[in-house]
Amino acid sequence: MSLDTLVQQPPFPSESGSVSSSPFDADNFNAVVMSTYGRFPLALERGAGCRVWDTQGREYLDFVAGIATCTLGHAHPAMVEAVTRQIQKLHHVSNLYYIPEQAELAKWIVEHSCADRVFFCNSGAEANEAAIKLARKYAHTALQIERPIILTAHSSFHGRTLATITATGQPKYQKNFDPLVPGFYHVPYNDVAAVEAAISELDEGDYQVAAILLEPLQGEGGVRPGDVAYFQKLRQICDETGVLLIFDEVQVGMGRSGKLWGYEHLGVEPDIFTSAKGLGGGIPIGAMMAKKFCDVFQPGEHASTFGGNPFACAVALAVCQTLEKENILQNAQQRGEQLRAGLKAIAAKYPHHLSEVRGWGLINGLELKADIELAAADIVKAAIDQGLLLVPAGPKVVRFVPPLIVTEKEVDTALQLVDKAMATVTA
Ligand SMILES: *Cc1c(COP(=O)(O)O)cnc(C)c1O
Repeated sequence: MSLDTLVQQPPFPSESGSVSSSPFDADNFNAVVMSTYGRFPLALERGAGCRVWDTQGREYLDFVAGIATCTLGHAHPAMVEAVTRQIQKLHHVSNLYYIPEQAELAKWIVEHSCADRVFFCNSGAEANEAAIKLARKYAHTALQIERPIILTAHSSFHGRTLATITATGQPKYQKNFDPLVPGFYHVPYNDVAAVEAAISELDEGDYQVAAILLEPLQGEGGVRPGDVAYFQKLRQICDETGVLLIFDEVQVGMGRSGKLWGYEHLGVEPDIFTSAKGLGGGIPIGAMMAKKFCDVFQPGEHASTFGGNPFACAVALAVCQTLEKENILQNAQQRGEQLRAGLKAIAAKYPHHLSEVRGWGLINGLELKADIELAAADIVKAAIDQGLLLVPAGPKVVRFVPPLIVTEKEVDTALQLVDKAMATVTA
């Protein structure tokens, strides 16, 4: 099947009458839903491929994909088929019993990564919690460290639970939520000397560095790719000291980078890594993978009621098989190159406003000049007006994370819309 045929027509044409003509009522929404999110003033109602339609029937090109999640876009036939098949068969039973769909998905992951075993949960933060618990237990039981410390990076993002906001190296996510979880220490990203210094300085009394948790490419922190030499040196340090190397692949993994895992860009393998966002193509599922350290958890030591239920696993497996069958990683590489080339041309056209384009595959950032007032959110708003959905990655970076099935024509269209958005914000 060619990628163009995957982009279906909307299942419910706007003439169907299902579309309301009045704007979405945000007041009614906010009267009953907690105000945890700053939302753009639109409500999306349906999607097909890389396109979505709002409640007023307006069409958008979706370069957000549910925040780097809907790898196969919207209403992909393979997902529709897997969802329909599995919900009619069995959707949830708990981990009191063996779940064959879990083994099928785990087998696919093990065969397509450096992992030996998989633990399933429901989100990125939970996958990271599992990795943190595994690392701590390993430190206590195998390394005899009384107070294990996990190093993480400035500008990182690891989730919103208490442990993962503590791991996250951005104070804005921690403010007012203290006391935070002890046992984390932040170092600058892509800086070997800082890691070496932390490992030697923190080795005092019962304290010792037990693990390093990093994103191969920092997503929320501004789309910052990891440095190859840095990661290779860290792998060497970890091999020499026994410190565990943990990668948070929640955003960059599952083909987003044009390779299945972000670590493939760095030429190193982690001891433990996590996945979520793209894994289920938008169906909630998370996973923590370990190489070697598979028997650290004993029965009863870690669990999740929903984790790895037949429904989530069957759909995620369909997503994985489709990535492979339809050669979607290659598309992500080629469309990524096309997108970066186009964004570089736009950056060259607005040298007073835009400073850099960077990324891997289909996770890319357009950075704004630091010394101007324009914010990433201003460009995102102008792009929405043009019919293009984008998402900021911090105050000064506009992020481009379309479905991995995006076509050449759709990337061209998106670039034209970004150019128009830039013209309006700089006018
Ligand atoms: C989104 C994200 C998380 C958190 O995932 P949730 O599913 O929202 O809990 C963790 N790490 C990274 C790198 C992410 O991008």
